[in-house]
Amino acid sequence: MTFVDTHAHLGDAQFDADRDAVFERAAAAGVTRIVEIADHPDEWGRAVAIARARPAAARCTLGLHPYYANLFDDGFLPRLRAALDAAPEAVAIGEIGLDYARAEVPHDVQRRAFEAIAAAAKSWDVPVVVHCRDAFPDLLPILEKVYGGESSGRFRGVVHCFTGTPEQAEACLTLGFALGADGPVTYKKNDALREAFRRAGPDATVLETDSPYLPPQSIRGKRNEPAAVLEIAAKLAEVWGVPLDEAARRTSAAAAALYRWP
Ligand SMILES: [Zn+2]
Ligand SMILES: [Zn+2]
Repeated sequence: MTFVDTHAHLGDAQFDADRDAVFERAAAAGVTRIVEIADHPDEWGRAVAIARARPAAARCTLGLHPYYANLFDDGFLPRLRAALDAAPEAVAIGEIGLDYARAEVPHDVQRRAFEAIAAAAKSWDVPVVVHCRDAFPDLLPILEKVYGGESSGRFRGVVHCFTGTPEQAEACLTLGFALGADGPVTYKKNDALREAFRRAGPDATVLETDSPYLPPQSIRGKRNEPAAVLEIAAKLAEVWGVPLDEAARRTSAAAAALYRWP
């Protein structure tokens, strides 16, 4: 039984002392694939290096988190295109998105950057990793504008660390997005979130830890790491009423399809 952690930040300084051990613990737990997410252009090179050093176990993404959306300028998309061309390890664009909870960048600046990058990703046929915090009413119309209409028959991307309502989950699924499930799905109070993932089901849900953030219930308050994806899988298997190995197999297939990592 193997699992994919589709979203981790192992380039974070919190892993400087034991990054290789973290990958080894993940592999020992059955987490055989990890996708390293780069939030800021200054992190792109490091994310590529992490993936390049582990060709069987890791891939990466290149993004511009809404925290840094003010860095979006006329040269951004050409720089992103060049970075993707130089790194076959980069399987998606992200994180990109909207964050109305913590980002200091004005909302209209975030929206402009997000829409422009998503539109480019669509024209390049590259999946996107979307971050959305307290911003679904603005995010969904942008996704609809960029991705609405014809269906491509495969995932456009993932709404990572999905924390919306069951209705917002349905809207993302309809637009061709997978939902990313993290530690919060294991927190006792989050019944509505579990209902959203019940509706998504194991074929449109991908597992992610967002390490070092968002530790699941059993390690709350501690540094998160990819091996913890098993706790998320176990909770979702319960939600879906399927055995753990089936949850592992189907979410891993969704992850492979999302990132086109066969
Ligand atoms: Zn995020
Ligand atoms: Zn993240």
